Amino acid sequence: MSVREEFDEWAADGRDKGMEERHWATAKHALGRMPVEPGDVVLDLGCGSGYAGRAIRDTYDAGRVYGLDGSPEMARNAASYTDDPQVGYVTGDFGALPFAEDAIDHVWSMEAFYYAADPRETLAEIARVLRPGGTFFCAVNYYEENVHSHEWQERISVDMTRWSAGEYREAFREAGLHVAEQDNVPDRDVEIPDASAFPTDDWERREDVVQRYRELGTLLTVGVAPRSGTDRRRGAAPRDRPP
Ligand code: SAH
Repeated sequence: MSVREEFDEWAADGRDKGMEERHWATAKHALGRMPVEPGDVVLDLGCGSGYAGRAIRDTYDAGRVYGLDGSPEMARNAASYTDDPQVGYVTGDFGALPFAEDAIDHVWSMEAFYYAADPRETLAEIARVLRPGGTFFCAVNYYEENVHSHEWQERISVDMTRWSAGEYREAFREAGLHVAEQDNVPDRDVEIPDASAFPTDDWERREDVVQRYRELGTLLTVGVAPRSGTDRRRGAAPRDRPP
């Protein structure tokens, strides 16, 4: 199934809101770290219900927020949850972002980046659209160190890329983004039953639940676009400077 087919189904089932609820537990902490200034233009990649863009508008007074999603149904749902004219939802693919070079101040993405057909190409696209000094906040729960997430691929028809924390940093650097920060953001909202409740239907051991939510949580990698566009593409010759 294509991204469109898979996630149009999810949107029709109301799973956009279900994800919003689950992801908010860690997304809110990562969103709170973004250096968005009033008036900034922000792009949410794989926006789902679009909650992140709305929160960025409300809390930072961002100028214009775009939520991009490969599923037209997701983008349509997201648009129906707001009447803020400064928030726009568009259908598009991570492989070719419909924005000009340097057009975006900050990019956000939660639980979506690893669905990119070619994640390195997507990083190059992000580096292209970010203005110098702009940031990419990339939040994922599906990654190598989170062994509890590995089985997710079996339940979804879209191919997922499972990088380790180190692979994220390396790929960011290859795309010309500086890695400003990488962190595990714990989920403190999810309730974990006492030891006497285990095993549960979903979990054998309480330690595993604690590890997944409290210790591993969401992997956040923050990239910063370099000051000059010339050093963005690896191997690009430096621009001639006047003497
Ligand atoms: N960020 C939201 C949604 C996560 S689900 C949240 O935190 O809840 C992942 C979303 O990414 C889906 O809505 C899906 O349609 C979108 N997506 C996946 N691959 C994509 C691609 N290649 N291009 C554009 N959107 C994509």
